[in-house]
Amino acid sequence: MALIYLFISIDKTQDELNSNLESIFIKQAKRFSNNLDKELKYHIKKDIYKTLSKNRTLRETIEHSMSVMIGSSYKYIYVLYRDKSGNYRYLLDGSKKDKGEFNQKLNVNKKKWDKVYEMGKEGFLDQSDLENLWITYLKPVIISDRVEAVIAIDFSMKLPKNISDAIQPLHHTFYYIFLTIGIMLLILLYQSMLNIKTKKDSVTDPLTNAYNRNYLRDLLLKINIQNYQIMMLDIDHFKKVNDSYGHKAGDFVLYKTATIIKEEIRDRDILIRFGGEEFLVFIYRDSENMLLAKKIAERLRLRISNQIFNYEDSSMKVTISTGISCSPERFKSVSSAIKYADEMLYIAKNHGRNRVVTMPIKKDYNQAVDIKSIHEFKEALEDNRVTCYFQPIFRLQDRKVIKYEALVRMIEKSGEVVLPASFLENVMRTNIYRDMTKQVLNIVFKKIKEKEITISINLNFSDILDNDIYELIVLEIERNSSLASWLVVELLEYEMIEQMDLIKERLLKIKSYGVKIAVDDFGSGYSNYTVFQTLPIDILKIDGSLIKNIKESEISKKITKSIVLLTKELGIETVAEFVHSEDVLEVIQSLEVTEGQGFYLGKPEAII
Ligand code: GH3
Ligand code: MG
Ligand code: MG
Repeated sequence: MALIYLFISIDKTQDELNSNLESIFIKQAKRFSNNLDKELKYHIKKDIYKTLSKNRTLRETIEHSMSVMIGSSYKYIYVLYRDKSGNYRYLLDGSKKDKGEFNQKLNVNKKKWDKVYEMGKEGFLDQSDLENLWITYLKPVIISDRVEAVIAIDFSMKLPKNISDAIQPLHHTFYYIFLTIGIMLLILLYQSMLNIKTKKDSVTDPLTNAYNRNYLRDLLLKINIQNYQIMMLDIDHFKKVNDSYGHKAGDFVLYKTATIIKEEIRDRDILIRFGGEEFLVFIYRDSENMLLAKKIAERLRLRISNQIFNYEDSSMKVTISTGISCSPERFKSVSSAIKYADEMLYIAKNHGRNRVVTMPIKKDYNQAVDIKSIHEFKEALEDNRVTCYFQPIFRLQDRKVIKYEALVRMIEKSGEVVLPASFLENVMRTNIYRDMTKQVLNIVFKKIKEKEITISINLNFSDILDNDIYELIVLEIERNSSLASWLVVELLEYEMIEQMDLIKERLLKIKSYGVKIAVDDFGSGYSNYTVFQTLPIDILKIDGSLIKNIKESEISKKITKSIVLLTKELGIETVAEFVHSEDVLEVIQSLEVTEGQGFYLGKPEAII
């Protein structure tokens, strides 16, 4: 813009200069002819021809003053009169060489000259058809209202050249200024582009063109997490791709995966290569849709699983697992929200990979994939077809059932039992979730009163924070003082969140009535030992991933042993999940885990 303006203004200046210089020469010629006119009138009062023909000295005096003007700009200056036959003849001629004699005829463009004579007004003649001449300025000499003669000044051809000569250096100056500014601007532009590129390079991963962790570091400082959902995804068994097809093929799969992710997300979403084959995506929330990131992740999962990666002679297929933090704003910091997504990713990996996980899933919940609609679930709830199954928990010392875990089920009209994996995630994001939890609580309270047995219920932090649910629990245990001692609240998550203080306060309150507090799945994902400080725990459930292979895995055994050691110190009971064989049972017994739960000991049942 500035360049164009500069260019136009230089051009304009040149035009202005041209016309200014021209007008200076014309003005000078006019002034000179005015003076000449005055001089003539001073000497001659009437009949110019007669007076001059008689007075040679006067002619010579005037011609002398005319000759002063002649030079490179003005070639000829002369005064002509029109005789009776209409011819033009010399009265005076300022020329030194080839001087026109007095009364000598001069062939002129009569038409133009006559016009000046008749109109009595100055004018110009274009003389460019004559050699060395440019224009002629004509000025009538009027005495007693009559045109007596015409003063003529011929402008030399050199004049226009001189003008452009005069302008040329200026023009050049402008040209160089223009050029210098142009070059400077180009250098600046290049440098800023270089800066942008360097900056971009420093925050971009060269293999995938996604942002790198440098970018994430800056992003964490400025991002408003309320506007995003967080997705953490990882290629499943990627090591196998490298091992079977080579590192280059692995690189290709990584590059191609990143490209597909970019295609599936939108412009306002942010893709970061978080680690080797792990990507972090910030999904911009442009709607209230809580399942937005999940929807994108599912689409992506499906697309990747159907994609054939062709590299050289190899055709490869991979799948991805994804963990999502749907409401990152509820965490203390963005980092803990990312950690949560990573933890969900870990759960996805533990549950068979090629899946999307948004919240902690109980092992038991995670089998069916036939997702039920909210409508179907709502109908079931209204029809009283949402109920609980109960899985026994054994005291390992004497292998006696000491309590049950309540697990929600939906019963189809056909009578078929539907596991939570088919409905819970959808339900979680609606108000129906609260109704479902209330229903489960009511069933459990009823069962406790009826059977006088200990029952464990699963609750999320959001349930504890929900006033309706919290009050329902408190009211019920206040009404039936014995009920509290039969109740265990099993927390599905224990990542620190914003309202941790309120959660702690409410848990302490229900605990004060005699309710026991358990945490679920300890030892999975990023189980944090601070949980022992932040929550008033009575029971710790050891994650099935540690128990499942405890017979074969020395490390699982050692971890479990250390957990038991710690909990004993703290006076906390332990429950081993996923006890699926006698072997497992024996090992956990030897490790002094206090309780056990699993298919080997007892499956969830409708009736107890
Ligand atoms: P999982 O399903 O549990 O994620 O299994 P995995 O094999 O994908 O996971 P793991 O973390 O054990 O292995 C990741 C591998 O990714 C190991 C590493 O060699 C490979 N990797 C990391 N970065 C790159 C890369 O830039 N290029 C290639 N070709 N391989 C990479
Ligand atoms: Mg992987
Ligand atoms: Mg990995």
